[in-house]
Formats: sequence, structure tokens, C-alpha cells
Amino acid sequence: MPATTRPALSGLPPYRPGRTAEDLARELGLDEAIKLASNEMAFGPLPSVVDAVTRTATGVNRYPDMYNRALIAAIAERFEVDAERVTVGCGSVALVRHLADAVLDPGDETLFGWPTFGVYGSAAVIAGGAAVRVPLRDHALDVDDLIAGLTPRTRMVVVCTPNNPTSTHVPEAALRRLLEAVPRDVLVVLDEAYCHFVTAPDAVDGLALAREYDNVAVLRTFSKAYGLAGLRVGFCVADPAVTATLRKVVTTFSVSAVAQAAAIACLEPAAEKELTDRVAEVVSERSRVTERLAALGAAVPDSQANFLWLPLGERSATFAKECEKRGIILRAFPDAGVRVTIGAPHENDAFLEAAAALL
Ligand code: PMP
Repeated sequence: MPATTRPALSGLPPYRPGRTAEDLARELGLDEAIKLASNEMAFGPLPSVVDAVTRTATGVNRYPDMYNRALIAAIAERFEVDAERVTVGCGSVALVRHLADAVLDPGDETLFGWPTFGVYGSAAVIAGGAAVRVPLRDHALDVDDLIAGLTPRTRMVVVCTPNNPTSTHVPEAALRRLLEAVPRDVLVVLDEAYCHFVTAPDAVDGLALAREYDNVAVLRTFSKAYGLAGLRVGFCVADPAVTATLRKVVTTFSVSAVAQAAAIACLEPAAEKELTDRVAEVVSERSRVTERLAALGAAVPDSQANFLWLPLGERSATFAKECEKRGIILRAFPDAGVRVTIGAPHENDAFLEAAAALL
């Protein structure tokens, strides 16, 4: 008989990453397939980032700096926050887990809109807490619905803005209404994984809110705009007291020396300028693809991220399967919609061609 594991985890679905382009190309006998499924950047790393990786690789017989001091100093300087408010983790996904571990006692609730990034719910359950989902309205978070979902057991509220998978953001006024309604001893986590792609004038920089409200924690990642998804590095900005606890629960040595060096290289002013130019290209492609889909009759919500949400309801799984047959991997949320990452122009063209045939 196998050893016993926690009954609370028996219903937890394992995380299912999208399939790789290599796997699909092999299956279809193509030279290459297109992956628009994981909200990655289509561009490879900058030469300066590759240099930092190569330079660091020669020293990987040693453990990395467990305290991530140089990276934390670079983040603190770049984003004008105190270093004692910054925690670095093995991707922001790890930081979601660590925040839940740091905040939730058994039975405590994490509240969030739904659909959103699935890790908020699984992190709550793994920590011994409970996940409370509030349905979105028109693909966007309604903060009044979220406020109505607060209970005396709520210890953590997570707002993903822009929201994965629906691409919509929460405007500043709504976020402020939420922060005024949430008790000050409840942590409000703003997951800003996609903040670099936001163009809406009513949006707010979560770091400004974290300076005003000591119960706000902001999550950022190097996986999206900075293009380091394969290196696994993200960070959290929170009150020093929350940060002190968070740093106790993070997995020791979980951010590799290579990841730390690459993230520092991304924050060099010249590198960041180039990465910002790439973001501008994605935003411009986002407009082009959205307009074309609208012309095809698809009701695509206004995206503030590097992906689009096609609310195809029960046609979602079939649409994604048909695109796969054409060598394009998308992310289907059965009976809800399909998430489409904005890729390089030729990849977007291939997707639009498939969409024109299928929609
Ligand atoms: N937050 C959101 C909203 C995401 O969509 C993702 C990645 N899909 C993450 C966090 C995780 O990012 P990381 O690679 O930093 O773990």
C-alpha cells in the first residue's frame, strides 16, 4: 500500500502546461509548429542577457546567492522601492505559493475572480486553506462582486490585472474601492505579470498602491515582457513585515545564479529600452490581430496583455483542436474561451488565416 498523502489534495488537478511546438511539429510531420499558448515573448534573449548567462554558467559548481542581493538591489533601484520590501522567487508562480504559505492558516480563504490563473486556487489548497472563486462579468473582474465575497475567513485576495486568461485589466478607481473595502489585515495580492503591455489610461501602477497600502503585495515576473520564461524568476514587493515572513518560506537557493544574472542584465537601461521596444511591437500586433478578428465577427474583449481572449463558449475546444491540426497551439478553456498569445507577425498571420477559415 502506498504511503498516505493529504486527502485535501486528492481533488486537486495537476497543472497542465501547453504542449510544445516541437511535439506538435513531430506529430504533424512539419518543419515547425507555432506555439501561441503560454503568453511567452516570441523574441529570443538580448545578446547582453546571453552574455550574462554564459559568464555565470562557468561558476555553477557553487550555490547561488541565496539572498539574491544584487538582483534585489537592481529591482529596488529600478522600481524605486526599498530593498527590504522585495522578495525574489523561482518565477512568480512560486511566489504565489509562498504567499499562501505565509498567510493562510488551515481553513482560511483566498478570494479571487474566475476564470483566472489557476495557481491562486491550488496554492490556497496546498497551503491548507480554501479557494473562493467569484465569477467575472463580461470577461472582467467586478470588484463589488469580489467585495461581496469577503468573509471573516478571507485572509488573502488575489487580483490578476491584466487578467489571465481574459486579458482585461482592473481600473485604478475600482482597485482603490476594493482596497478601501478590504480589512487592513487581509493581504491583497496584485498579480501584474502582464503590466508592461497595459495601455489603458485608467490603469494604475500597482507599486504606487503598494506604497500607499501596507496590505498590498505586487507580483511581477521576468517571464513575460523581459522574455526570461525559461529561467524562472519573479519578484514580490510588499510591506517589510510581510516580506520578512515571505523570505522565511521561500525555497532555499531556488533562484539560480544564471537566472539572477539574466534578470539583472534585463534591468540595465539599454537592455530595458530594447525590451520596451519589443513590447511596443507586441502591442501593435495586438491591435492588428484584434481588428482582424473583429472583422471576422469575433467579440474579442479589449486586451491589455500579450494575449487575446476569444470567448467561443462550447466551440472553444474544437476551435483549438482545429488550429492544432493546422500547426498552431492555442490554450482552450473548455466551454469558456480560447486564449491566443500575440506572437511574431508571421505567427499571428498564420493564426489569422486559421481563424478566418474556422470562425
Ligand atoms: N501570473 C500570471 C497571471 C501568469 O499568467 C503567469 C504565467 N502564465 C504567472 C504569474 C507565472 O509566471 P512565472 O513564469 O513568473 O512563474
